[in-house]
Amino acid sequence: MVKQTIQIFARVKPTVRKQQQGIYSIDEDEKLTPSLEIILPRDLADGFVNNKRESYRFKFQRIFDQDAKQETIFENIAKPVAESVLAGYNGTIFAYGQTGSGKTFTITGGAERYSDRGIIPRTLSYIFEQLQKDSSKIYTTHISYLEIYNECGYDLLDPRHEASSLEDLPKVTVLEDPDQNIHLKNLSLHQAATEEEALNLLFLGDTNRMIAETPMNQASTRSHCIFTIHLSSKEPGSATVRHAKLHLVDLAGSERVAKTGVGGQLLTEAKYINLSLHYLEQVIIALSEKHRSHIPYRNSMMTSVLRDSLGGNCMTTMIATLSLEKRNIDESISTCRFAQRVALIKNEAVLNEEIDPKLMIIRLQKEIQELKDELAIVTGEQRTEALTEAELLQLEKLITSFLEDQDPESKLEVGTDMRKIHHCFHYLKKLLNDKKIHRQSTAPSENKDQNCREPLKEEEYKKLRDILQQRDNEINILVNMLKKEKKKAQDALHLSSVDRSQLSHGQSSPFPPGNPDGPKTLPFSASTQALDSSTSPYRSSLLHRKTGMREEMSLGRQEAFEIFKRDHADSVTIEDNKQILKQRFAEAKALGESINEARSKIGRLKEEITQRHVQQVALGISENIPVPSMPDQLEEKLRSQLEEEKRRYKTMFARLKALKVEIEHLQLLMDKAKVKLQKEFEAWWAKEATSLQVNSPAVTPSNHVKPFPQMSEAQHERSQPLSNKSDVYARKILPSPGPLLHSQEQSSPGAPMENSIPERPVSSVPLTGDSQTDSDILAFIKARHNILQRTAGLRCSTRDGPFPLWHAES
Ligand code: ADP
Ligand code: MG
Repeated sequence: MVKQTIQIFARVKPTVRKQQQGIYSIDEDEKLTPSLEIILPRDLADGFVNNKRESYRFKFQRIFDQDAKQETIFENIAKPVAESVLAGYNGTIFAYGQTGSGKTFTITGGAERYSDRGIIPRTLSYIFEQLQKDSSKIYTTHISYLEIYNECGYDLLDPRHEASSLEDLPKVTVLEDPDQNIHLKNLSLHQAATEEEALNLLFLGDTNRMIAETPMNQASTRSHCIFTIHLSSKEPGSATVRHAKLHLVDLAGSERVAKTGVGGQLLTEAKYINLSLHYLEQVIIALSEKHRSHIPYRNSMMTSVLRDSLGGNCMTTMIATLSLEKRNIDESISTCRFAQRVALIKNEAVLNEEIDPKLMIIRLQKEIQELKDELAIVTGEQRTEALTEAELLQLEKLITSFLEDQDPESKLEVGTDMRKIHHCFHYLKKLLNDKKIHRQSTAPSENKDQNCREPLKEEEYKKLRDILQQRDNEINILVNMLKKEKKKAQDALHLSSVDRSQLSHGQSSPFPPGNPDGPKTLPFSASTQALDSSTSPYRSSLLHRKTGMREEMSLGRQEAFEIFKRDHADSVTIEDNKQILKQRFAEAKALGESINEARSKIGRLKEEITQRHVQQVALGISENIPVPSMPDQLEEKLRSQLEEEKRRYKTMFARLKALKVEIEHLQLLMDKAKVKLQKEFEAWWAKEATSLQVNSPAVTPSNHVKPFPQMSEAQHERSQPLSNKSDVYARKILPSPGPLLHSQEQSSPGAPMENSIPERPVSSVPLTGDSQTDSDILAFIKARHNILQRTAGLRCSTRDGPFPLWHAES
């Protein structure tokens, strides 16, 4: 058992403006615990908490200032936790801080650069690396990803659901068993055999989370996300399994609102926006107070899920993320205060070991077999499952002669075979029963019957019956266990079959065809499996989601999307990443070729060595001199060359593996960025469509077209000269469908239609919002317009109507 208080760390987010100095200072001189001092600017100090206090000092295990790299954060905070998880203890790392202070950046990582990857991908990398190194145990890794919003849990990884809103995701509920263990119903667990598979799951979950977020639910700010790595390990042949869980938690923004009408006392009166953070605080207060017997875990889902992490069987670490700008001072102080409380909580982590019933059955079966074998040796008889006909016949003969034998000392000798003993008893019982029935019908004599019984046999019979009973019980237990296991296996099979259905999207490997399949003699061929394993289903499900959306788009919309994409702020990142990806691909390809070369060289060298060896031996024989005791110079040289080449191969192979992880990560970042882009485009499109319907259509559509959101200043300027072009394009693409229908209504019934195709649309047909219906409406309007125009053209010879829109599309 390891007793430990929750470790607290602080991380200060880089400030945008540099002149924010003087707000805080970090004191690391103190040998034991470093401290963070937050200094209140004078203007803020007035009317704030307590006028006399101008600075606050908080102690942390370590404080990471603005320039701390993700790598440093991982090494110092996450790695020790990952190590204890590998040793079999539960671990939790949670980030706490106001929105925008860097929780997601710290836990998951930035969306742009590979170097910005956060604790989750780095921990996965580390764990899988360690698992590969340790061949003394058999490990299994599962991943789950839970989002808690508004006291409801959602499974971010269920592959059966194409989520477009939070409600589409399967709801997860908390169940508590009689032993007060928490179970999460509906939260799917996915086995991840490699780092790549686990990474894909992370990105799948993040993408689901992003897609489910709306301006209304503000999920990224208001929800908690718990990414869990479930690790189990056992030694080969042992039935004892160790389970450890690592929760990596990105909490909701900790910002609070002040109670209105209360001046001054802002900090003490401030209330969480997020109710479950309030309950988290309650739990933490309860835990940090001595002699509190009741801890209100049950009040909220999050505290139930994290029950072990808070004051329980877990090694827990908190990262307080701080955005130390002037306007955030009060939130930063709250965060630090919270951390100080957390630091008082004591946890007791124990090794979670249990006997795996499946393994137990296997072991018992093995034991039975061994006993049978032993028995066969002792009795000198090979045993089959059932007694043979001949054996049965022989037994019956024995019983008959035993019964007929008048000698009171006579014995029924059937040996030590329990089956034979059982059979004798059954046979005797049957005989007895038959006799009883016979007696009953022919006035039986009790005395005689009693005389037949031998008290000694009775005792033996009872003993054997007890043994029989025990065996029956054992068999029942085993059968039950087997049933349970079978069910589990079926469930797992079901899950995996669902997973497999996602696999349909194949993905071309980013690696050159000359993939390094290590020569068999090299000791690291196992690792090639990791390289060769094809992309997991989860990534393809990400891609599927993306393309699925594209397929529904009309041509015009696709075109609009292309332009939207071009002008989007993220496109720079996507482009950058594309370039980096290209470089990495090229590098991987070159490396792949070098590896192949090295491999053939290794082959050649080996052949040369063998040849040389054979030559030497042959020479020895033909000249009749013994094989030289001095080592052959040339062979030595060849051998050292071989070693050198093997080393080179190994280095390149390791590099290729690292490259693969990086490429995978970059691809996932890009996929995610693309999905995000798509989502924003859909939102923009919908908004434009409604605003066009609401606004008076007398205004030219170009007047409504707002610049694309998220366009950076520079990009906006860049796109200015194009404004004319974009007007045309906007007119062309925007779903302003209805001029014709309405123009028809507008033309008074008296006025003949053929004379009055209006110059300008006057109103529009409302769209339904359902894409299929809307495109049908548009198609109808278009067709109608074409016909009308053709008629009008015939009559007025004005073929060129006022609606370039339709021509452009037809
Ligand atoms: P939170 O999850 O706490 O709301 P985020 O992690 O989303 O905050 O951070 C807000 C923004 O600040 C993001 O754009 C993120 O990339 C950036 N950011 C946060 N921390 C850092 C850091 N240490 N270095 C660089 N950028 C950061
Ligand atoms: Mg966040």
